[in-house]
Amino acid sequence: MGLVRRFAVSGAVLWFLLCRSEPARAQDSILGFTAASATREAAIEKKFKAIPSPEEERRQHRVFTSEPHVAGSARNNELARYMADVWRQEGLEDVVIRRYDVYGSNPKHTSLEMVAPVHYRAGLRELPVPGDPDLKNKSISSAWSGMSASGEVTAPVVYAHSGNPEDYDLLRKQGIDVKGKIVLVRYSNPYSYRGFKALTAEREGAAAILIYSDPAEDGYKKGQVVPKGPWGPEYHIQRGAITYDFMVPGDPLTPGWASVPGAKRIPVEEAVSIPKIMALPLSWHDAKPLLANMDGPLAPDDWQGGLPIKYHLGGKRVRAHVKIEMDNSTQPYYVVEGRIRGAELPDEWIVLGNHRDAWVFGGVDPSSGTASMMELARSLGKMAKQGTHPRRTVVFCSWDGEEVGLTGSTEWGEQFADELRNKAIAYINVDSSTSGPDFHGQAVASLAPMLVESTRTLQDPSGKTLYEAWKEATAREKRIAKDPAEVTDSNLADTRIGSGSDHTVFLNFVGMPVLGLQFDGPYGVYHSAYDDFFWMNHFGDPGYRYHTVMSQLWGVLALRLANADLLPFDFASYADNVRQFVNELSKGKDMSQLDLKPVLDGIDEFETAGERLDESVSAALAAGAIDGKRADAINHGMMQVERNWLNPDGIPGRPWFKHILYGARFTYAHLELPGLTEAVEKQDWVTAKQQAEILQHALEHNAKLVDQLAAILKDSGDSTK
Ligand SMILES: [Zn+2]
Repeated sequence: MGLVRRFAVSGAVLWFLLCRSEPARAQDSILGFTAASATREAAIEKKFKAIPSPEEERRQHRVFTSEPHVAGSARNNELARYMADVWRQEGLEDVVIRRYDVYGSNPKHTSLEMVAPVHYRAGLRELPVPGDPDLKNKSISSAWSGMSASGEVTAPVVYAHSGNPEDYDLLRKQGIDVKGKIVLVRYSNPYSYRGFKALTAEREGAAAILIYSDPAEDGYKKGQVVPKGPWGPEYHIQRGAITYDFMVPGDPLTPGWASVPGAKRIPVEEAVSIPKIMALPLSWHDAKPLLANMDGPLAPDDWQGGLPIKYHLGGKRVRAHVKIEMDNSTQPYYVVEGRIRGAELPDEWIVLGNHRDAWVFGGVDPSSGTASMMELARSLGKMAKQGTHPRRTVVFCSWDGEEVGLTGSTEWGEQFADELRNKAIAYINVDSSTSGPDFHGQAVASLAPMLVESTRTLQDPSGKTLYEAWKEATAREKRIAKDPAEVTDSNLADTRIGSGSDHTVFLNFVGMPVLGLQFDGPYGVYHSAYDDFFWMNHFGDPGYRYHTVMSQLWGVLALRLANADLLPFDFASYADNVRQFVNELSKGKDMSQLDLKPVLDGIDEFETAGERLDESVSAALAAGAIDGKRADAINHGMMQVERNWLNPDGIPGRPWFKHILYGARFTYAHLELPGLTEAVEKQDWVTAKQQAEILQHALEHNAKLVDQLAAILKDSGDSTK
């Protein structure tokens, strides 16, 4: 809808266009650009897109995946210095390494032994496979969970399926209590964030949680395993943090402010994001002896997994000893920051980021993204050296400790929140850039049209445009999900944004529009040692062509935001999206206690204002030159819209999360209208009413603001005629 609306040309404008000596060249039209600027932009992009090369992507990927580089490790810090050096050589400016002293979480000892009915000592190791010498590296860690509690317990083991609340309800019905026991759960079926599994087990009173990768989810039941295929082999261990960062991300001891050296810190006991339960991830090799020996009732059909055994609920016969000792001393995390200063508007920023820390080698997660970012930095650096600077500033950030609790990005976002609220236009996140050929693009709805438009100008390695390839991949996904909705330009970009990566602080705390980009594919080695250079070169992206397209797309988006005459925000399309959120909220629920009419009216107002602004913007761009002062006023006004979705008090119970349209569930799943939705789900109508009013006021506020912006442009249009 947004695109159609933006391109609709009113009669008066058409007359104006026809009278001009040089008609606008439609083939060069770009959202936010006048015809002349679009022609210039197309030439810049053409030059830029020719720079990134698969050979360089591969070379950088090898640098970052040659050794394990977990957050806080000497290798990860060495990579920070390497990156800063390379960026300086490549022409990036103001390259700095920022330090945050955070609550550490590193394993000193982890062990698991079955003590009855037979003895089995879990290896907690990932064995090498033929052809991949990296797997012989002595510094590959054993199994551990970030932010696990320390302790020791010997207790019966219960199989609790996926470890979600409904699973414990079923156990209770079978008379099985998990208090003081060890629960064994699998990662998916359905997927939920492992931290949510840990919190659920903690609330149920379990003494420890073991989380294993069942072959039904990411192993041989899916297809060929490493080294023959992309799925997880017998010994693969999905490491990962169990941090309760759905309560507040970042350093648990500085919730809401930055962990710069010397910052105030809260006592550990008061930190809501630190789990109190022991946790350990397992390969199916180590989980199988436990499962195979369990007694108790047979587990239900949908609890049965991919191992050739009957899964039982357990609870008596199998007893195990778990021991975990963590080192929680303070440790420094390092964020690398560099920029290409804008030639005309240096105080307007486009922020790009990827995390550097990996559980082991990080073949996909995150070093594919790191390689794409390195190649993008080299390309934009080269352009700048040749004299082509963006109009606005492009900031590059390499985050640390994403895997622990989105820590580096959160601390940086908290440190610079005020400055970002004044200067930042958008944040573009690439975590894993490539695990296969299927493009997946996320954007807040106001930037979805420009994301879709940008993919039309890129070549997918399949030979189609990226836009066509994306549409086909999305249609396939929808068929698999049995979603009858047709793929159109207005629903191509995913506008449901949950948590689980570094965009979180920018969207939910700072109030910045965010985009997220990724190429997906069959990938069963996530967070294991097998996610490495070998895997990428055999399965993920052997020719590094998708890595290269990612650098190109990331750069085109940054350049369009950096060079636009009028920022390419589409608020009418945003309003339409918010309406969908509200409709979904009410679907199938008794809403008689809550009047959503004022909210829907607010959405209409915001949409009408957005349409008016779209029209004035189209007219102004079609008319050619836009007076710089007015453009500044419009652009700064547009930047303010996203900030206006913030409620300083945050969503009920989670004050750090301030955005009223976007949030995430404890599982990390996207949660639209978080405050309102959670209140409706709890049937807490008093809170629901308050949240609806907050939403209504924000909508009215933004409708007024956008209307004013349209008026400013309209005046300028009238005066030039
Ligand atoms: Zn990641």
